[in-house]
Amino acid sequence: MAERTWETIESGTPDPMPFMHPVMKKNYGKWVFHSHPKPGVLYHRAENGDEVWTVKAGTQRQMDHYTIRKLADIADQFADGFVRFTTRSNIEYMVADQSKVEPLIKTLSDNGFPVGGTANSVSMIAHTQGWLHCDIPGSDASGATKALMDELYHEFTNCEMPNRVKMSTSCCEINCGGQADIAIIMQHTKPPKINHDLVANVCERPSVVARCPVAAIRPALVNGKPSLEVDEKKCICCGACFPPCPPMQINDPEHSKFAIWVGGKNANARAKPTFHKLVAAGIPNNPPRWVEVSEVVKKILYTYKEDARSWERLSDWVERIGWPAFFEKTGLPFTKYHIDNWRGSRATLNASTHIRF
Ligand code: SF4
Ligand code: SF4
Repeated sequence: MAERTWETIESGTPDPMPFMHPVMKKNYGKWVFHSHPKPGVLYHRAENGDEVWTVKAGTQRQMDHYTIRKLADIADQFADGFVRFTTRSNIEYMVADQSKVEPLIKTLSDNGFPVGGTANSVSMIAHTQGWLHCDIPGSDASGATKALMDELYHEFTNCEMPNRVKMSTSCCEINCGGQADIAIIMQHTKPPKINHDLVANVCERPSVVARCPVAAIRPALVNGKPSLEVDEKKCICCGACFPPCPPMQINDPEHSKFAIWVGGKNANARAKPTFHKLVAAGIPNNPPRWVEVSEVVKKILYTYKEDARSWERLSDWVERIGWPAFFEKTGLPFTKYHIDNWRGSRATLNASTHIRF
């Protein structure tokens, strides 16, 4: 294993060099050629002829230590003890000996880790961790991701999409939710319900008031106790007040739904970056398999696969055919929820550090 020479700190990105495969460290900044020999495998060649094959495998984000040990044993056996994890919670093994690539792929597959997620495949869904570490999730993003990736196994292990497809899942709509070709995002549809008996004991009221992006929360006296009130006409149901004040419960088994957004892209490659846009709302938050979410995502994904030209990202495809054609081809209904008619932003959205009432 890599020698641990860094000083342990609690924050910031650690120095990657101690963790890097020796052949990669030696040739840092000196790579002259790369290719994609097969799904899940990348090949790099350096100026001096050194070669490295990177093998990517799907792994879960929340991992027990038996799985970590198994993955580490595989690294010791094939990759000189070096691994790295991608932002999409996939593991990558770097191999400097070509004869080890196929046995490594077989060992990973035999142990239940599918090899894929490169080039024009559906890469692993970037997702948040929900219940495990966060105090505000309205759903289990990891669970919805697992259920969906089970259905998209073939698209992960094969490169059959027009271009790369990046997806994300978030269990609230205000924090970790990322731009993606297809993003699955928790969406509350009702303002919070306040338990006035608890507010004075649990919540620091000024900080809750300051949290609201549309200044919809005011201090109030309820039944003789200091509490808070919400102007429901202003409230955009974002859920930002719930973390500092749990008595402002917003999660609801019926009214917390999933929404699907498409066409987000961070890269500058081929076309400029784009914001994703809402295409489906009010989808039930239905564990343990979230079938309704999977159904909408697959409809969008397979229409894109069928209809897009080679190397068009999802946003390029929609841009070319137009949004009316997107809704026609996918069969998704266009409803009033797709029209952003909220006029309050100029007057109330907290774009500065001042609080306005
Ligand atoms: S998406 Fe929201 S609820 Fe989920 S982990 Fe991130 S902050 Fe927490
Ligand atoms: S923080 Fe969000 S959910 Fe809470 S009152 Fe303000 S707009 Fe509504």
